[in-house]
Amino acid sequence: MATCAEPSTEAERLTAHLNTAAKCGQRASITGTVSSQIPALAAVPATKFAMAVATVDGALLHTGDSAEPFSIQSLSKLFALCVLLQQCPDAWLEIGWGPTNAGYGSVADLERNNGRPANPFVNSGAIVVTDRLITHRGDPVGATIGLLRSVDPHAAVTSDARVALSETLTGHRNSAIAHVLAEHGVLQNPIDHVLQQYFGQCAITANVQTIARAALFLADRTGNNNPLDEASVRRVNAVLLTSGMYGAAGDIAYRIGLPAKSGIGGGIVAIMPGRGTICVWSPPLDRDGNSAGAIAAIEEFARLARWSVF
Ligand code: GLU
Repeated sequence: MATCAEPSTEAERLTAHLNTAAKCGQRASITGTVSSQIPALAAVPATKFAMAVATVDGALLHTGDSAEPFSIQSLSKLFALCVLLQQCPDAWLEIGWGPTNAGYGSVADLERNNGRPANPFVNSGAIVVTDRLITHRGDPVGATIGLLRSVDPHAAVTSDARVALSETLTGHRNSAIAHVLAEHGVLQNPIDHVLQQYFGQCAITANVQTIARAALFLADRTGNNNPLDEASVRRVNAVLLTSGMYGAAGDIAYRIGLPAKSGIGGGIVAIMPGRGTICVWSPPLDRDGNSAGAIAAIEEFARLARWSVF
């Protein structure tokens, strides 16, 4: 006979793991520092914490500030890439798929490779994705928001003009990257327009529930109603595992074993193929630029739920 204390259904078990993992993440968050790279984000309270788990069976579990939209920053690179792959499954040939030891904003790496980005999750690759979305879709920000809203058309997803302007005024490194790309003839659209769209895309705000649900198609192995073909889903997950977590990909593969994407706003989304997704928001970042609290929470949840691709 089951006792009251023993969770019986899968959803109850996952909820118990989520609550344990969230506490673990909150404890770890005090070891990090909120990023000041974009001045408008420097004042986000360090104590914010939200976690959501969405499963392919349709369950959505969440805790903390999970209704509050946050600046998704580089998480947008993942969704913008998927929008492009819907239209151009061979876009990889132009944006690359290999890992790099250089920082995500390295101008030198791009220059060394004659204007060829390493992958879509470093800034040069993401800026090329935005450029191609201008060519194919006209409105990269709108198209990326569209994919984020695909599960819930009423989800609160917008681009924060204040954050986009703040990055426009201070984003010299991204501006340099765009100029190097243009110098090598890689961009198809005017530099200023590409940067404006790229900053607008990074400034998208959404909550952890929306992101966890919107990323579910990357965990879907049935192929039913998936916006991407099967090969693209497999490739996106592979490149997330090798390049989604800045310089910490090897560490995260060893500790957690899930494809994941990180952003300087403190968000991380992780994919467990065949099972579901996890999204955590906790603003303080560790030395690699990943949310300290989000990594700890995802690590604990993955351990308890035995979610790993290995
Ligand atoms: N907008 C930021 C940039 O392009 C995003 C950085 C990040 O989240 O990794 O530098």
